[in-house]
Amino acid sequence: MKPAQIEEMFRRFQAQNPDPRGELDYINPYTLLVAVVLSAQATDVSVNKATEPLFKIVQTPAQMLALGEERLRAYIRTIGLFNTKARNVIRLSQILVEQHGGQVPRDRAVLETLPGVGRKTANVVLNIAFAEPTIAVDTHIFRVGNRTGLAPGKTPREVEDRLEKVVPEAYKLHAHHWLILHGRYVCKALKPDCPRCLIEDLCQFKGKLLATGPAAPTPLKALKKKEKPAKAKGPAKTGRGKAKAGRKRAARAS
Ligand code: SF4
Repeated sequence: MKPAQIEEMFRRFQAQNPDPRGELDYINPYTLLVAVVLSAQATDVSVNKATEPLFKIVQTPAQMLALGEERLRAYIRTIGLFNTKARNVIRLSQILVEQHGGQVPRDRAVLETLPGVGRKTANVVLNIAFAEPTIAVDTHIFRVGNRTGLAPGKTPREVEDRLEKVVPEAYKLHAHHWLILHGRYVCKALKPDCPRCLIEDLCQFKGKLLATGPAAPTPLKALKKKEKPAKAKGPAKTGRGKAKAGRKRAARAS
């Protein structure tokens, strides 16, 4: 995409939605951090459902520690990977209390040392809680960046670096939200809604006019690997499981 097209793209996003907001509910930087950690591989809707009652009683790391891991698990058990996420939230709350005076640090490197916090989560917190012009690349932004030609890249980091270079300064603060909302509601993964797309004439996606069926795939492999909460090791295979696998191998070989 040429600079003039990029400028026009964001001019339209801004005209349509001058003050875009994220869709995760939060009360302060700490609850935002918790909500973003919980949202890995989960929908914002599912996270909001779980955090609504949780944030009524927990709004600081100290309150989270007082709640404890077991009771936290009960609040978030409808969210995928809740065991790992509960452990991470308790551990990060402990670090915030012990090393940061109970505050969320406004520092990417420090944020990224917290359990369950990767570059994307740090970028979201810096952008929303501290109004820094960071652009967190999630699955939607990765897709929109590649499809439109705005910021092609094979990995989320490549797309992020490209966005850093090409998004005009005046639009950087809100670029994250505009691109996510565009990807979530218009430039959807399976069937982009090109006929009602605000930037259809600027978009360079070759399949855009044929978008009545599934769209051409985008290289998402790298993104899927990113920001998966570290899973606890599962139970070792039982003798029965091993025997079953062995029978399958034998059947294939015969
Ligand atoms: S024209 Fe279609 S593919 Fe291009 S940004 Fe719009 S919805 Fe996405």
